Amino acid sequence: MKIAVVGIGKIAQDQHLPAIAASPDWDLAATVSRSGKVDGVEAFTDLSVMLEDRPDIRTVSLCLPPVPRFAYAMQAIRAGRHVMLEKPPGATLAECHALTEAAREAGTALYATWHSRQADMVAAARAWLADKSLRRLTVTWKEDVRRWHPGQAWIWEPGGLGVFDPGINALSIVTEILPDAIHVTDARLEVPENCQTPIAADIRFHHAGGAEVTATFDWRQEGPQTWEIEAVTDQGRLTLSDGGAVMQVDGVAAGEAAALGGEYPRLYEQMARLVERGGLDMDLRPLVLVADAFTLGRRVTTAAFVD
Ligand code: NAP
Repeated sequence: MKIAVVGIGKIAQDQHLPAIAASPDWDLAATVSRSGKVDGVEAFTDLSVMLEDRPDIRTVSLCLPPVPRFAYAMQAIRAGRHVMLEKPPGATLAECHALTEAAREAGTALYATWHSRQADMVAAARAWLADKSLRRLTVTWKEDVRRWHPGQAWIWEPGGLGVFDPGINALSIVTEILPDAIHVTDARLEVPENCQTPIAADIRFHHAGGAEVTATFDWRQEGPQTWEIEAVTDQGRLTLSDGGAVMQVDGVAAGEAAALGGEYPRLYEQMARLVERGGLDMDLRPLVLVADAFTLGRRVTTAAFVD
């Protein structure tokens, strides 16, 4: 199937283009970008021109930051195209609901991707937790923003999510692996004095089974990076580390990696199946948690951030 990638930035170059190139399902037929190109692929600078000129391209993958993405997604859906959304699926929940409604009316496939859910051991962790009683779950997501988002001003602007840009990846895993629902009860957000979005956050959640569930996100961690979820249950302690790539039970390696290597190859495989059967995959639970953390969060002003 032919696909166009819109927004040739960091994640498109690091992950989307290699995953499409290696996929048996997809053929990169066009790019839409104000500045980037891919050798040998037709390049557009305007989405509406691409939609008009290339009716043979039925699917578009949107790799833009969250704020500009809605207008692009709506335009593609109204032109009858299937749409794959980078995470988060919108800058707001209302945008996601509007896209869902539009795709339903147009009969196009719409996929809110959560790449971290495709990490090697997430499916194994979900299976392990399915019959356990959770007592405590602790998320620790600490990374160096300068290393992962060099020069990206949008992450500090309204709608850019700040530290919730990586934090939502952790929440996408948590909502996938836990059999019970959680919701935010309390949050503390540290916001640099020169930014609109937090650089660190501590969040507490209500868990339907009464377990203690907390998350700590911090973008100021230099040296080794920490992307870890620990779940203490009635039958042992599960640790998912390296963003879901490594799983241990009581300190011993456990679980089998999901088939097909890599988060983005799995996303494109799932998009292919979604297009074939038609329909929507718009799980908004991670974005609900983030929106609620912003609604309930107590803001604390912290030192200015200088990139
Ligand atoms: P980026 O490199 O800063 O931006 C991606 C592209 O979006 C830019 O190259 C630009 O494309 C386009 N763009 C930016 N602002 C725009 C605007 N106002 N209007 C129209 N186009 C605009 O960002 P990124 O790191 O790739 O992140 C994009 C999305 O992927 C985010 O939602 C992020 O959460 C997600 N993501 C990022 C990473 C990562 O490691 N960076 C990992 C996983 C997911 P053109 O110049 O080509 O027009």
